[in-house]
Amino acid sequence: MITIVDVETERTLDDYAAHASLKRPVEDLRAVAQKCADRLEDRTVWMVNSTAQGGGVAEMLPKVVSMLRELGVSTEWAVIVSEKDRFFQLTKRIHNLIHGTGTPHLSNEDRELYRSVSRKMADGLARRVDPGDPVVVHDPQPLGTGALLKQEMDVPALWRCHIGLDESNAATETAWEFLKPWAEAYDETIFSLREYLPEFLKDRSDLIQPAINPLSPKNRQLSVTELTDVLRRSRLAESAHPTVDGDFAPPAMRLQRDGSFAPATRPEDLGLMQRPIVTQISRWDRLKGFAPLLQGFARMKEPSFFDRNATSERDRRRLSLTRLVLAGPDPESVSDDPEGQEVFNEICSQWHDLPPEIQRDVAIITLPMTSRRINALMVNALQRCSSIIAQNSLQEGFGLTVTEAMWKRRPVLGTHAAGLREQVKDGVHGRLTPQAEDPEGIAHTIHEMMNAAEERKRWARNARRRVSERYLVFTQVRRWLEVLAQAVDRQEAVSVDGQSTA
Ligand code: UDP
Repeated sequence: MITIVDVETERTLDDYAAHASLKRPVEDLRAVAQKCADRLEDRTVWMVNSTAQGGGVAEMLPKVVSMLRELGVSTEWAVIVSEKDRFFQLTKRIHNLIHGTGTPHLSNEDRELYRSVSRKMADGLARRVDPGDPVVVHDPQPLGTGALLKQEMDVPALWRCHIGLDESNAATETAWEFLKPWAEAYDETIFSLREYLPEFLKDRSDLIQPAINPLSPKNRQLSVTELTDVLRRSRLAESAHPTVDGDFAPPAMRLQRDGSFAPATRPEDLGLMQRPIVTQISRWDRLKGFAPLLQGFARMKEPSFFDRNATSERDRRRLSLTRLVLAGPDPESVSDDPEGQEVFNEICSQWHDLPPEIQRDVAIITLPMTSRRINALMVNALQRCSSIIAQNSLQEGFGLTVTEAMWKRRPVLGTHAAGLREQVKDGVHGRLTPQAEDPEGIAHTIHEMMNAAEERKRWARNARRRVSERYLVFTQVRRWLEVLAQAVDRQEAVSVDGQSTA
């Protein structure tokens, strides 16, 4: 079954352009639209994915659809719905295999299930799509649907794969062998990073990078009063004065010595607006590298590290004042991720094992997920009051946390994981630690960054510029316009060729 998702326009391009820093990206987008939109006239672009809610694709599509419409391109968003749970269990397995994990085996029965469900959905989609309409299929779930449609209708078909791994193993090979005949039916495939392209698609692929919305609650500018207000209402900072608005409920919670959780201002205010702060905000996932980051930070706080590495009294004082914030979603709110709770528990026990004087300088914080907007505001405020944003991932698809931090002019401490090294050039936008799992190296990199005030300003400026040029939603929509116009041109050329040789 196919359902069409309603998309509302929350903000127009004029609303974005009213912000001085966004005027230029909006103008650039409009200029590209002028060249491309007429090639898409009289056609409807179909975005097809497998969920209207949850996950990065569903989060991003409304903005892309509404901007394309505003630029004069008729666009619809269709979601494939299967009553067969087994189908989505299979596609989840394929998803994990593309990331290199899971038993590397897919059976003939799996192939038959994938084929038969794709067949039904393709029939549903064919009733909506007209010949010539560009069809953009996102991720492996609807890949087969789009492939069958392409084989039976004269439509430009593009497959947008948002996932990938920059290495190959038995798991990835199994996944790609399964998907190959379907993916090959498309005119073009689009990945986020070159490293994720499977060999057999290299001659028909393009790249579009993920992007952030600069006016969303997570990324919009916060004035100093708004920032302090969000911190205070989240119980991430104390207020010495009575205030108009009450606390957010629930507030941000922090791990306490007795193992309980209390508002993050307990047992004492963290000093987020006063101290040097290193912050990592991520899902509680082993691959995010929380554990070695915590070890590295603790190493930096040891007297033997100070004695050997502090370059001045001021440097010593800075080291002693620096605090680490490790924040992520309240693990109880992510009930479909038992591993998240397990990883979170491991980090809590690692924190319990720290000497008390170091423990004081490390805050393990959970952010409530009951309101997405409030959660986003908390992330925004935490990122903005940090001296350094760390993302110590062992593997990273892209790492939007880093894009968000760079947009906020925060210097980034990253690793050489594919998504991070794409965004952060070592010594230009921040630093990349040589080894995500080497606490000693992490300790030195944090210390060097803290001690390099001028460089941090330069990294921050460069980081902001990089996001502005490459990773804002306007660039993403611009790339879609280009790719879609090319796809239509190609299809027309093939039709003309076909006629002339006929
Ligand atoms: N995030 C959030 N609340 C949290 C922790 C993370 O909103 O408590 C967001 C974070 O700001 C980012 C996203 O989750 O937008 C994570 O995306 P990323 O690409 O960094 O990693 P993924 O989770 O997709 O592996």
